Amino acid sequence: MDEQESLPPHVLIFPLPLQGPVNSMFKLAELLCFSGLHITILLTENIHNRLVLHTDITSRFDQCPGFQIKTISDGLPDDHPRDGGKFLEVFDSLRTKTKTLFKDMLTSDLLCFDLDGKERRRVSCIIADGVLGFTCDVADEISVPIFCVRTISPCCLWIFFCLPKLIESGEYPFEDDNLDELIKSVPGAETFLRRRDLPSFCRSGDLTDSNIQLYKTEGQENSRAHGLILNTFEELDEPILNQMRTICPNLYPIGPLHAHLKKKQTTLRPSSNSLWAEDRTCIDWLNNQLPNSVIYVSFGSIATMTNDQLIEFWYGLVNSGQKFLWVIRPDSIAGEEWRSKIPVDLATGTKERGYIVEWAPQEEVLAHPAVGGFWTHCGWNSILESVYEGKPMICWPYFFDQQVNSRFVEKVWGIGLDMKDTCDREIVEKMVKDLMVLRKEEFLGRANHMSKLAKNCLMEGGSSYSNFDRLVKDIKSLSDKV
Ligand code: UDP
Repeated sequence: MDEQESLPPHVLIFPLPLQGPVNSMFKLAELLCFSGLHITILLTENIHNRLVLHTDITSRFDQCPGFQIKTISDGLPDDHPRDGGKFLEVFDSLRTKTKTLFKDMLTSDLLCFDLDGKERRRVSCIIADGVLGFTCDVADEISVPIFCVRTISPCCLWIFFCLPKLIESGEYPFEDDNLDELIKSVPGAETFLRRRDLPSFCRSGDLTDSNIQLYKTEGQENSRAHGLILNTFEELDEPILNQMRTICPNLYPIGPLHAHLKKKQTTLRPSSNSLWAEDRTCIDWLNNQLPNSVIYVSFGSIATMTNDQLIEFWYGLVNSGQKFLWVIRPDSIAGEEWRSKIPVDLATGTKERGYIVEWAPQEEVLAHPAVGGFWTHCGWNSILESVYEGKPMICWPYFFDQQVNSRFVEKVWGIGLDMKDTCDREIVEKMVKDLMVLRKEEFLGRANHMSKLAKNCLMEGGSSYSNFDRLVKDIKSLSDKV
């Protein structure tokens, strides 16, 4: 037997450099490491620097000789903002500049494990974010097996798979301005998916839009990999997963990843992968509130709002009379003037019933018994975290897959209310009251049921547990052939 083959498989994990994908792919990396595989997680220098600043990643893996972190340049200058609005620039730079570096790293010894200065194992398998299509090219060129991961929702990914059909059928671009018209070319969603629920970039109606160009080949791109790893569970997304299997037969739904890791975590303490400093004082505040009495409000790591939206949201929250914990990131509102112009009634209402932080330990907040609902932008990680904890949601989708996710929250899973395309204090007030008071039992009942399914799928024999076992076996058998 070749000396390399007697060593555990060495898996290279390459996440997209954004908070959501980094968070969930770190969890996948840790899960695979606990299963006895050797793992290298490859982070862009920018993401690595921020994680070093705000988390324990430099010491977390001290006890794990099979885990290493390596960095790669994203090809952009240090002062590039790399935020939501500029993300396509990051993406282009990764594709044009990082691709060559990536291949060089894989073909040199740079990524080898150095065990006791003797044994060295080359990368025997790649797991990359499926949107980084160039990783499939490189894997082909150097004959290393590759699996793709999509950290967005399967319901949105399915729409990407259907984009060519939407365009061929003439449904897209839209013929008129009626955003409530139902979409017919997305199998499985014909009865509830409206034009307004398509991914946000579809609103442009421009077939040359770079997002449309990028995502319309998703079906072909993802099916090039050996399999597609998804952060969901069968019981939540079964109809959509069955549709996706017609294009990518080998799916591994192994989520919710954050909870899957907690279940398996034996040696490491649970840690955050936050790119911002967590303000833990909000947990002390929650400890003094009644069960199910607080609505937690957070619009994730990228979404921004205008000053007017901020004021409408704030009045809606204060006027609802409910307690609220609100994350307002320093970069989520343009300009600083809002801080000096807070109307007196809002300041008073917040002092009485609210608590505001710049970044929260969200998983812990959602697991807190005082939290009875979540007003979210519908990022996929946030939804899964909320589903797992059985917290009903109000959805204010900002962009990308969030427009699709929010429709599924309301119409498919029945665990929340979708307020997309509105931003009005009366609507906010009504929805908060509905979720937290008037229709509380109805929403909590369905959310608790979904939470039980999410917990069961991670038990021995459960769907995500078994899919994860299958993934590890498949990685091992493919690595043996490298
Ligand atoms: N998050 C957090 N603290 C906050 C807000 C968000 O830890 O105050 C985490 C949240 O738990 C989730 C991630 O940031 O894991 C956001 O990912 P998501 O997919 O929901 O949205 P995105 O930020 O990508 O838009």
